[in-house]
Amino acid sequence: MTPGRAGVWLARISIAIVAIVAACAHHGSSTPALETGDLGGTWYAGGKSCDGVPPFRVRPYNDDFVILRQAACTNYEKPFLYLVFGNDRALLLDTGAGNVDPVTPVDTLLRAWARRHGRPAPPLVVAHSHGHGDHVAGDTLFAKRANTVVVGRDSSAVRAFFSIAHWPSDSSTFDLGGRVLDILPIPGHQPAGIAVYDRRTGILLTGDTFYPGRLYVRDTAAFARSISRLADFVRRHRVTHILGTHIEQQRTPFRDYPVGTVDQPDEHLLDLTSAQLFELDSAVQAMRGRMKRTLLRDVTIWPQVP
Ligand SMILES: [Zn+2]
Ligand SMILES: [Zn+2]
Repeated sequence: MTPGRAGVWLARISIAIVAIVAACAHHGSSTPALETGDLGGTWYAGGKSCDGVPPFRVRPYNDDFVILRQAACTNYEKPFLYLVFGNDRALLLDTGAGNVDPVTPVDTLLRAWARRHGRPAPPLVVAHSHGHGDHVAGDTLFAKRANTVVVGRDSSAVRAFFSIAHWPSDSSTFDLGGRVLDILPIPGHQPAGIAVYDRRTGILLTGDTFYPGRLYVRDTAAFARSISRLADFVRRHRVTHILGTHIEQQRTPFRDYPVGTVDQPDEHLLDLTSAQLFELDSAVQAMRGRMKRTLLRDVTIWPQVP
């Protein structure tokens, strides 16, 4: 770096520090401002043909938080994956529904991040929102990748990796280096389900437990307790967006695309709000364990009889 460029960087850093100090003073506390980003608009994943369609649609929320969505032509589930960067390592949540290579786009993102920061690509931790096949299919490919840890899929592996003392009532934290994530067990859709809260952006990732679509409930008692804990967590934290791992809802309220729909040109936006979570919590708690299929405006409660 030339002295001139160093001077520019010093000036930039000084401005950033002044801005942070000013922001803290403005709020009268040391609580840092949440990092902002852009979710964009629609996350349309394309139609049946893969011609000219990349296997993943990739969009940064900001420089350190990237959202990926698997193309519809590769699997109708078209799940979302999340890549979050800390100073010391990156976390990838989920590996896709299969029939596709998720390692290449993630590699590209890690290298680009490393270039921007003038350092080697960070180690990668691969964890899962839950253990269903449409979220873990790329695990075997990541297991072969250097500098990568793939967390197991069942609740005992998840519990051990994140050091959660009592599953599912306790939560834990996971530090990526200057970026603390809260890990909350949320079984009910699937036994190893977790929610991940990012303290830097205020984004809460909720997997298949809460997204604009059909919330399949396998264990009604566990699901009710998980939704209640999630709602309680949201009341006590600054939550900017709640992001799940599918979109099945149409933009028209109370309507979803039928199971197996590939092309969803008029689908709901990705993010849900705290108010929508509280509405789900109220509906679930009112059922008192006797869950029945219920349409809410943006989600459907869909109990699955064993
Ligand atoms: Zn699932
Ligand atoms: Zn799923």
